Amino acid sequence: MTPMPENKSERIAALADQCVQCGLCLPACPTYALDGNEAESPRGRIAIAAALAKGLAPVTDELRTPLDHCLGCLNCERVCPAQVRFGELLVETRTLLGPAPGRPRMLLALAKRPALLRWTRLSGLRRWYAQLARWLPRRSRFRAALVLAASPTSSSLRPAHRETAPRAPALAHVALFPGCVGSVDDAAAQEAAVALLEAAGHPATRLPAFCCGALDAHGGDARAAEQGARRVQESWRGSGASVLVTVTPGCLGQLRHALPGVRVEDPCALLAAQADRLQFRPLPMRVALHLPCTQLNVARSDEALRVLLGRVPALEVVPLPPRCCGAAGSHLLEFPERAAALRAPTLDAIATLAPQALLSSNIGCRLHLAAGLAGQGIAVPTLHPLVLLAQQLIPGNPP
Ligand code: SF4
Ligand code: SF4
Repeated sequence: MTPMPENKSERIAALADQCVQCGLCLPACPTYALDGNEAESPRGRIAIAAALAKGLAPVTDELRTPLDHCLGCLNCERVCPAQVRFGELLVETRTLLGPAPGRPRMLLALAKRPALLRWTRLSGLRRWYAQLARWLPRRSRFRAALVLAASPTSSSLRPAHRETAPRAPALAHVALFPGCVGSVDDAAAQEAAVALLEAAGHPATRLPAFCCGALDAHGGDARAAEQGARRVQESWRGSGASVLVTVTPGCLGQLRHALPGVRVEDPCALLAAQADRLQFRPLPMRVALHLPCTQLNVARSDEALRVLLGRVPALEVVPLPPRCCGAAGSHLLEFPERAAALRAPTLDAIATLAPQALLSSNIGCRLHLAAGLAGQGIAVPTLHPLVLLAQQLIPGNPP
């Protein structure tokens, strides 16, 4: 790989110059499908980023908006024959421009504080959120946040079976990164991940809960993103583990950025490698499987997840068409109407399938989909796939 220049603008220009403008990424881009407009496509965004970085155009709303609209789903990166590193180019360009003026800082600051989030959940305030949201305009970011916070989360399934100690021979020691929103709204998935990892032979410990900086990196706040990365490095140093995992694929890219040279994975990748050690009780149920873009394009753990779910006897797993649901980190708060439009085809697919449960690994996607389903009066439990797997795990599997 050619070394990248030190200077940010030159780095963006060099990344953009790798694009041969073939347009093969356009059909994979959800915002191009939504708007039908070159500026809202990967190729258009690369051209805008190059023009801004080279000083060929001033930063205007017209040029900035398509960059702000980008979901960071990386569908374009996955299909690009020239291997353009679009994710890197997007983060570099956003940090060059700085956070968008309309970024909902207060809401994001709340989302990044697990203790405060936990308090709002436990205080009983949550039952008023849906009522309050009705009084606010459809485009309001506070309305989007309240609808999201009021949506049914995680799981209605019983707690995971916990084994008290990993069996010998022990595999690599794993540290679990709980994150911020995930540490509160996806606590069941984290419990499930630890139970499954230990059953597979991986000693597992949990790191403290805080924001890794992914929300800031994608929002163009370089300083806050680097603060998050430094906290990750400090807490990793004291863990004594050799692999880091997160049940939220949306955090994976930032964790890998914070810890170069460290193996950072979706727990599914480790579990699938030890699938023979895990046995599950039958579950005669039809579930829809939503694969978040970050699981497909960053974690690349979709196949590992399918392998694990395939080991649950009698479970029928129906994959939803792979398209971005519009959650995309803070996008669902910044652009609630676009996020709802991007979500609509996935809600239609779920309504047609009429599954008994919806599985999705990313807490943001799951909350966004659950809010949409609740809005349509569709009652489907939504849960992290690891919660289902841990629920069905037969304790004391053979080594
Ligand atoms: S597929 Fe790659 S090279 Fe082709 S236009 Fe898209 S980003 Fe550029
Ligand atoms: S990251 Fe996703 S939304 Fe952004 S340009 Fe690429 S395909 Fe389109």
